[in-house]
Amino acid sequence: MAEIEPIPSLIRADILVVGGGIAGMTAAIEAAEIGKSVVLLERSATLGGRVAAMNQYFPKLCPPTCGIEINLRRIRVNPCIRVLTLAEVGKLSGAAGDFDVQVKLNPRFVNEKCTACGDCEKACEVERDDDFNYGLSRTKAIYLPHLMAYPVRYVIDPKYIKDPSMKKVVESCRYAAIDLDMKTQEVTLKVASTVWATGWKPYDATRIDNLGFGKYKNVVTNVIMERLASENGPTGGKIVRPSDGREIKSIGFVQCAGSRDENHLPYCSSVCCLASMKQATYIRAQYPEADIHMFYIDVRSPGRMEDFYVKVQQDQKFHFHRGKVGNLTEVPGSENIVLEAENTLTGVITKTEVDMAVLAIGMVPNTADEVPSIPITRDSYGFIVPNGSGGIVGAGAVLRPCDVANSVQQATGAAMQAICAAGRK
Ligand SMILES: Cc1cc2nc3c(=O)[nH]c(=O)nc-3n(C[C@H](O)[C@H](O)[C@H](O)COP(=O)(O)OP(=O)(O)OC[C@H]3O[C@@H](n4cnc5c(N)ncnc54)[C@H](O)[C@@H]3O)c2cc1C
Repeated sequence: MAEIEPIPSLIRADILVVGGGIAGMTAAIEAAEIGKSVVLLERSATLGGRVAAMNQYFPKLCPPTCGIEINLRRIRVNPCIRVLTLAEVGKLSGAAGDFDVQVKLNPRFVNEKCTACGDCEKACEVERDDDFNYGLSRTKAIYLPHLMAYPVRYVIDPKYIKDPSMKKVVESCRYAAIDLDMKTQEVTLKVASTVWATGWKPYDATRIDNLGFGKYKNVVTNVIMERLASENGPTGGKIVRPSDGREIKSIGFVQCAGSRDENHLPYCSSVCCLASMKQATYIRAQYPEADIHMFYIDVRSPGRMEDFYVKVQQDQKFHFHRGKVGNLTEVPGSENIVLEAENTLTGVITKTEVDMAVLAIGMVPNTADEVPSIPITRDSYGFIVPNGSGGIVGAGAVLRPCDVANSVQQATGAAMQAICAAGRK
């Protein structure tokens, strides 16, 4: 069920799910499909989370539309799920079986009459950085977050709401869907249990001084690479060098960029090796002759993912280098990147020049620096520690770095725990 307006100031439901990524969507669907009433609350303008920004997922290399569209269809047709976007959780009080949760709904400035026809976007003269593409492209101030956005409804960046040109945007809408006076709304939720699925963010690569991100144009991160390869990304899916738009003849993947490093993220994010190997397949699909270098401490491809590792090893121009990259420098003139690494088996220091480099940065839980307003324990890295009781459970990457399959499994388990807690009401 989409957002239906007006939204009442008091909503009763069995379960609150916070975070509308793959984990949150899964938990909400699993609970709702057995008849529990669920509020699925997302702070951005759309469901989908980080998976929506991927080009393809390993191991099958299908586009994110595969999994996300199926979930969105299950949400659309289920009257037990109420989706609230642009929503922020405030105070949570009470105990398992009887929680009161204060929620702030930020204005979208576009109401449910929007058909996503796009006339407003054409009329809009103001632009903003597209955060979905990590600032590598621009959108209009009124925009659809991405092609899979749900609800399928435009949103206005609040920074531009007072811009005089917005009057023209309002006039362009023949459905009277744009309301520049829309206000923040306070809602109280009364729920029996809560699933916390607020996911992760990429480690800030500018903090890794020796790897040149933010300094050299041809050093990107793994999450940016997903957008460069995506058809709806800043380059229309053609992977080119950011500095000059030139085709790629060679590329270097730097594993454990900041990960397993006491100065940055001491833990392994468990998906980065596979993500880089997956991205190598994007390069190979576009550039059959390109040399692909991957610098690693050890390659982690747990369980059946080993098959994927074995498959990419068969590529004769995919060069695996055992060694952690200590330094990245730019070649003056060509803007090529030199990766300097010590081979941990032979001790030999190598220098490899490539057209561009990709830093495989790790996953940081959103709960690392945003302390949730709920009584829950976090470990020293900020991941939620499951306690299995209390009516509040975690799901997905907020528990530990994990892939989509694991996020879905955990979310299904979290739904079960939340259902049990709601049943004790
Ligand atoms: C470079 C890279 C490539 C990857 N590629 C793959 C792959 O190919 N295959 C694979 O299986 N896995 C892959 N992964 C892992 C995958 O991205 C995660 O498993 C997945 O995103 C976890 O989903 P999630 O729902 O837990 O978190 P997220 O996707 O982060 O979703 C969390 C949601 O919660 C929302 N939220 C955050 N805070 C709040 C709040 N306070 N209130 C309300 N809402 C909030 C966010 O806006 C977001 O919508 C990759 C990871 C990386 C780093």
